[in-house]
Amino acid sequence: MITMATKEDQSSATLDVNAIRHDFPILSGSTVPIYLDNAATTLKPASVISAINKYYEEYSANVHRSIYALGEKATKAYEDAREKTARFINAPDSSHIIFTSGTTEAINLVAYAWGRYNLKPGDEILITEMEHHSNIIPWQLVARDTGATLRYIPITENGSLDLSNIDELLNPKTKIVAMIHQSNVFGTLNPVAQLIAKAKDIGALTLVDAAQSVPHLPVDVAALDCDFFAFSGHKMLGPTGIGVLYARLELQEAMEPFQGGGEMIQQVTMDSSTWNDVPWKFEAGTPNIAQAIGLGAAMEYITSKDRTLLIQYEKRLTNYAIKSLQDITGMTIYGDSDPRGPVISFNVDGIHPHDLAQVLDQHNVAVRAGHHCAQPIMNRLGITATTRASFFFYNTSKEIDSLCESIEDARKFMGLK
Ligand code: PLP
Repeated sequence: MITMATKEDQSSATLDVNAIRHDFPILSGSTVPIYLDNAATTLKPASVISAINKYYEEYSANVHRSIYALGEKATKAYEDAREKTARFINAPDSSHIIFTSGTTEAINLVAYAWGRYNLKPGDEILITEMEHHSNIIPWQLVARDTGATLRYIPITENGSLDLSNIDELLNPKTKIVAMIHQSNVFGTLNPVAQLIAKAKDIGALTLVDAAQSVPHLPVDVAALDCDFFAFSGHKMLGPTGIGVLYARLELQEAMEPFQGGGEMIQQVTMDSSTWNDVPWKFEAGTPNIAQAIGLGAAMEYITSKDRTLLIQYEKRLTNYAIKSLQDITGMTIYGDSDPRGPVISFNVDGIHPHDLAQVLDQHNVAVRAGHHCAQPIMNRLGITATTRASFFFYNTSKEIDSLCESIEDARKFMGLK
């Protein structure tokens, strides 16, 4: 089934969605999926796929250590990707960028290399009830191992942070505030700038989990003034296996290594070792070279577009989806915050989310069903799972119509009135 952009998609802004869709090989095949699981991972444009292939086909040497042309070319491409990343998030320079395998590894890096050496009993780690498990478990482990206390900013019924008690939660015992920028369940965009400023006032460090925001919004780490900022390549048109930790230089210098091995050392003797300069001190072993190069290509693809148009387009698509879903009998949508990103979690009375996702799959519609790695949210809402549709700028209103028609079919199939 081919689902092209309708006139409505093109009307109030001049984003050429049909042209964009042509850039994505998976959207040009004989069976085109109605892919609405972009919060899990996005599709990849041809330019990203070809940047990865080019590395493997033309210069697949190791980086940093090879004293020959191919190796130098690979090193340049890998370090160029670091430069592009620094520019993409407005970091002062590329030494602030540590490549990781994803957001999960980036947060674990901070929890291990900073948390384990700097936290002690009596200290507090502050996160939110809205976190993805990857910004909960590393802190639970650190709290367990150091004796520090893990505290949570609660959430409201409508999927926003409840900041009514923030002055008690954020107190002189707080050593780090680690928070999700955009919720992968509700779509809520959290007031991270405000929380970072508050944390700074009491001398706490800050970490932003930007896995869901960076793909959709221009971000400026210098303006945010956070200490750490983490995101994944695969959620922003890039490959899997690559992620980014932005970390302030003084902190990188002061932190212990995360993992030991090749590349992260300067001198090794039988008894002790010294560490490489930052950020390479945190990149032990052969890095994900092709993936970093692919991530650079993804950033180039995104910045080649008018980002204001992309944001407007995704906002319009999300509003259209909310309105259309609300017309379905028995529909509950979780979260109604503004501003929000292009993620909608919902349940339909009488159909389990897993059953719904399965029926939708029979209609060629790919959505996610489950707890979305955010079980504290599910507990707060008193549910076990939701269905989640999440969009990217290659999606169309026609695809949203297909989603809604398929939900109606699922209701009929289940015998619901
Ligand atoms: N943080 C958020 C908000 C996410 O949505 C996800 C993935 O869904 C992650 C972290 C983990 O990302 P990754 O699996 O790429 O490490």
